Amino acid sequence: MAEQKVTKTICEFCHARCRLLVYSENGHLVKLEPDPSDPTVNQIWPPTKACVRMHGTKEWMYHPDHVNYPLKRAGEKGEGKWEKIPWEQAFDEISDKVKAIINKYGPEAIAGTVGTQRTQEEFVGRFYACLGTPNWGGQSEICYSPCVTTLQAMYGWPARHRSTVNTSLDAKEEMASKEVITKCMLVLGIAANKSTLRLWKIMRDCKKAGGKLIVVDPRRIETAEIADLFVQLRPGTDTAFLMSMINVIVEEGLYDKEFVEKWCYGFDKLAERAREYPPERAAEICWLTPEIIREAARMYATNKPAIAMHGMGEEHIANAIDAIQARGALPAITGNLDVNGGNIIPGPAKDFIDVAEMSLFEKLSPEQRAKQLGRDRFKLIGFPGWEIIQSYTEKMWGVKCSQPRNDASAHLPSILRAMITSKPYPVRACFTVASNPMVTQPNTKLVYKALKSLDLYVVADFFITPSAAIADYVLPAASWLERPFIYTLGNGFDNSIRAGEQALPASIPGEYDHKTDYEIFREISIRLGLGEYWPWKNLEESYDYRLGPRGMTFKEFMAKGGHDFPVTEEKKHEKMGGFATATGKVELYSTVLEKLGYDPLPSYVEAAESPVSTPELAKEYPFILNTGGRFTPMFHSEHFQISTARKKHPNPLVQINPETAKGLGIEDGDWVWIETKRGRCRMKCKYFEGTDSRVIHAEHGWWFPELPGEEPWLHGVWESNINVCTDDDPDVCGKKHGGWPLKSGMCKVYKAKTY
Ligand code: SF4
Repeated sequence: MAEQKVTKTICEFCHARCRLLVYSENGHLVKLEPDPSDPTVNQIWPPTKACVRMHGTKEWMYHPDHVNYPLKRAGEKGEGKWEKIPWEQAFDEISDKVKAIINKYGPEAIAGTVGTQRTQEEFVGRFYACLGTPNWGGQSEICYSPCVTTLQAMYGWPARHRSTVNTSLDAKEEMASKEVITKCMLVLGIAANKSTLRLWKIMRDCKKAGGKLIVVDPRRIETAEIADLFVQLRPGTDTAFLMSMINVIVEEGLYDKEFVEKWCYGFDKLAERAREYPPERAAEICWLTPEIIREAARMYATNKPAIAMHGMGEEHIANAIDAIQARGALPAITGNLDVNGGNIIPGPAKDFIDVAEMSLFEKLSPEQRAKQLGRDRFKLIGFPGWEIIQSYTEKMWGVKCSQPRNDASAHLPSILRAMITSKPYPVRACFTVASNPMVTQPNTKLVYKALKSLDLYVVADFFITPSAAIADYVLPAASWLERPFIYTLGNGFDNSIRAGEQALPASIPGEYDHKTDYEIFREISIRLGLGEYWPWKNLEESYDYRLGPRGMTFKEFMAKGGHDFPVTEEKKHEKMGGFATATGKVELYSTVLEKLGYDPLPSYVEAAESPVSTPELAKEYPFILNTGGRFTPMFHSEHFQISTARKKHPNPLVQINPETAKGLGIEDGDWVWIETKRGRCRMKCKYFEGTDSRVIHAEHGWWFPELPGEEPWLHGVWESNINVCTDDDPDVCGKKHGGWPLKSGMCKVYKAKTY
């Protein structure tokens, strides 16, 4: 019997990033289990051992539909005909086509789409920057970048947030600590039990230790069941609610006068703006009572230390930056910022070459940066905002701070429009890595038209997704099982580092031949004459380089446990002489936004489509379409082909209040159409009393791998994909950053005929 190898490998099937023991024999996966030597192993709920995705990994890895060799389109785009080709041929042909496009149109004609993790943050930006194009984009505007960018603009370095909060409960002891010192958690717009399992564990622990929990969400999600206060607001009105909380805290004198006086810039102006949101007015906007707003404000401000945390729910509204500014102001004005048990600011990892440095953005000239699509209009994310923010950060912290492939990215809806119209200039090629824009990007019809129009579309993925189905080349990507990994929490701004080993070979002759995104970027770059920027033969060598300042290799780092969770010192501003902003203070009044030409203070803006802003439209489309909420065991548009996952969640679901549904003649379990001005899709009705009778919630990410890949099916992308119904028109996007509304489109629902 062959000897079993056991590796400590980081799972990237979700943001928990559990480290797993991966057992293999002759390079083949045998089983997986949680790694007891990982200090974060018990910081997840439900425990890792219950994870359906982990248990489905073997099926996922050896699934008959797994793409195992490079594929070249053999028929028309979308015809579903593929030719298996060697990697060398794929690299040569793709590079030749890229070269021809650059020669004809310039490097900015090459675009990229990226998604959430699954790839190396540090090399995505590097690939495009060295190529000379500023035009990569993806989900940044509705996932993470609003949070990281806004908080960095305010604090000079982002505080730990939903995915990295696990070490902040008692920073005095960090990972070793069992003590929960947080006395209150305010959690907005995040179904943590579905999407952020470490945060969910902390919420439960905080409650068990006697802390208060305030859950703010349009739906009565499971986390609300253990809350002391559940605030069920109208989708998209978070800013009004939060500004009203600030109003109460200021009016009732519940703020930390000393901290505000010494360390906050613009408190008076914020207080003046907050006066526009008395609870009575905010209650009307948010469909709440004034009393519940007052109660939330008092509970949060008087139980210290407190954490204020938001999820993607807030980032899914066009008014996201204002909401996050208001949310970000709360810890500052209540003295909960950068304190143990509150919203602590980690600062950079010591002696570790950071993501920003690895991204080599200096290779992208100011002229090319200025061509970044959409960033003449939506400036906070992308180079205009990034350059201002980083200048302060670098001055005080000595390094840039960011997940730059997100925070400095282009606006994808603008890139897609340039593909179709060639305005302001042509975009003729696109690389899709770790993303599936045909499912996850809003306005699917436009995405389809744009991607189909390209001269070259290359997708690196594990399966033929609806996006890959219309590509010219599909490259088989190596997964987290087939590569080593090292990262700072938050992918670029935390002081904690974690690592995992490669568990399986990326290539087994006669079985499969995958490559990491790093190798793909490198091989193409070498053929384009850019090999000097890709000196490391593989990822592990690049990790040796990043660990160089510690005087150790990746293997030595793993031998020492594969993690570093240093104690995070609180109140660093006292020693450092302030915060890394233009004023040296927490900017409640943002000079970054002011420089970019925007309102420096948060204010509530009614969504472009809503019962208030478009009452005529609401007559035909009476319901607010809330989408983007997570459901397990799927993760975004992944795992739909895995039988164990599909058994758990076989059909796309739309939650409708039973009274509303009955009024429409819809039974629980009926198939229904959800229709907006833009299109319609079908889902199964799930009666849910926890949603307001005026709001429905539709799942996102749905496609059907079991349906044919060729047109018109494209694996069922037009069936139940809610993004057929969503909007990405720049005119409806958030003015400061370009995020598209996923919580506020107007829709109608009606029973679908069964067939
Ligand atoms: S998919 Fe499961 S095992 Fe993997 S990181 Fe998430 S919770 Fe952990």
